Amino acid sequence: MEFAHLIDGKAVSSDATLEVINPATGKVFERCPRANKQQLDSAVSAARAAFPLWKAQSFAARAAAIRTMAGVFREHQEALAQLLTREQGKPIGQSRDEIGRAASQSEGMAAIDIGVETLTDDATRRIELHYRPLGVVGIITPWNAPINLAAGPITAALYTGNTAVLKPSPFTPLTTLKLGELLRDVFPPGVLNVVAGGDDLGQWMSEHPGIDKISFTGSVATGKRVMASAAGTLKRVTLELGGNDAAIVLDDVDPTVVAKRLFFASFVNSGQVCMAVKRIYAHESVYSALCDALANEASRAKVGDGLDPQTQFGPIQNRRQYERVLVILEDTRRSGARILAGGEVPTGGGYFIAPTIVADIAEDSRLVREEQFGPIVPVLKFTDEDDVVRRANDTRYGLAGSVWSHDPERAAALAARLEVGTAWVNQHRATSATVPFGGAKESGIGRQYSVLGLKENMEAQVVSVLKEAV
Ligand code: NAD
Repeated sequence: MEFAHLIDGKAVSSDATLEVINPATGKVFERCPRANKQQLDSAVSAARAAFPLWKAQSFAARAAAIRTMAGVFREHQEALAQLLTREQGKPIGQSRDEIGRAASQSEGMAAIDIGVETLTDDATRRIELHYRPLGVVGIITPWNAPINLAAGPITAALYTGNTAVLKPSPFTPLTTLKLGELLRDVFPPGVLNVVAGGDDLGQWMSEHPGIDKISFTGSVATGKRVMASAAGTLKRVTLELGGNDAAIVLDDVDPTVVAKRLFFASFVNSGQVCMAVKRIYAHESVYSALCDALANEASRAKVGDGLDPQTQFGPIQNRRQYERVLVILEDTRRSGARILAGGEVPTGGGYFIAPTIVADIAEDSRLVREEQFGPIVPVLKFTDEDDVVRRANDTRYGLAGSVWSHDPERAAALAARLEVGTAWVNQHRATSATVPFGGAKESGIGRQYSVLGLKENMEAQVVSVLKEAV
């Protein structure tokens, strides 16, 4: 397959290449171009040149283009999903879902109305709040859900009248480049540019004087670097960063029912989800039953190559992350915690770890304190509700959390005390185009989706009229 950057509506190659590994085999299966600084400059220039005309289009016209983009996602869903599974590792059904979801979320966001708000209108004055696009938005994405996490920021930037330069993770550049190729005729040249490259390309984007805002999804550590680099030009930033989501299971639940839902919320995409459940706190009265039910789910999990339709859980996406999770697994073993299920690391080329459930683990262990971002989840015991809220909140992360109970209102009262951007009741990972999503504390700055997410791509402008002829 041929891969190219999309710069100013043209397919562009580079002298340097990135090697892309299939995580199910650990072997390079494709190469794609790796952009240099001059190519980034060209992409930024093209985006700047396209901005005045694109900004002048109506919301309705831009929404129509976004709907065409969603149609392209659907039309090419199967081919994109096959490529996504090969580079990312996730089961093919979940790749199809990711692409379908990218389409529906884009359509949903492009249906949100952003009008002029009237703050005052009386006999003497009228004060209005307008929203203006910022200019060029740089979009930087991670490797865990490259298409979904590109579609949201693309839609938010373009629908609100900005142009964009999109850079995928060097671990998963292919599906994003393919998307750029498919969208070549959907937007006018320069409105959407796609450039693949290394981490250095992300840094150049964050520093670039021609880029007005960075929409970044990735780790906390890199998010901080982006913010520091962006400070030089006082760029706007939206940072969607990591999480260490707690799920609190109260004493009145049916542990078998909750275990099924929690298992999926913890292990989907082999735990490589920002808002996966990463710590489970269970009341002492349901602790053993919940542990048993989770272990039962884990023991039946089918782990393998995502292209096999029987596979439920694919590999860890890259060697760096695989080795990090193995270190946490080893640390957990050595700590004396009980591994109830999983913990096996098959030999062979792929980066596989079976879904692993850990009980009786210390609160200050790495597995509990850090974002594991892999298929190993601790189950901790609590007796007192105030104490469990304190423990859930005792972290610098604040992405999301959930409370599970037979009585949803009882759970809702507790959920509201979690220091997170989203607190769910009897569910986890439920997001939509019209509901804001983002992190509290070090899990991020700003929100994606919804009217809040769209306005992050715009500058508020007051137009204040004194109704006096002069
Ligand atoms: P990462 O931070 O290593 O990389 C993310 C992107 O940043 C990549 O494109 C990378 O090339 C680029 N990058 C690296 N160094 C850079 C620099 N100095 N300046 C600018 N860009 C740079 O993250 P990852 O390992 O790809 O992704 C996993 C992380 O992403 C996890 O922490 C996960 O929780 C988080 N995540 C958050 C959300 C969310 O919505 N909050 C969603 C998905 C993933």
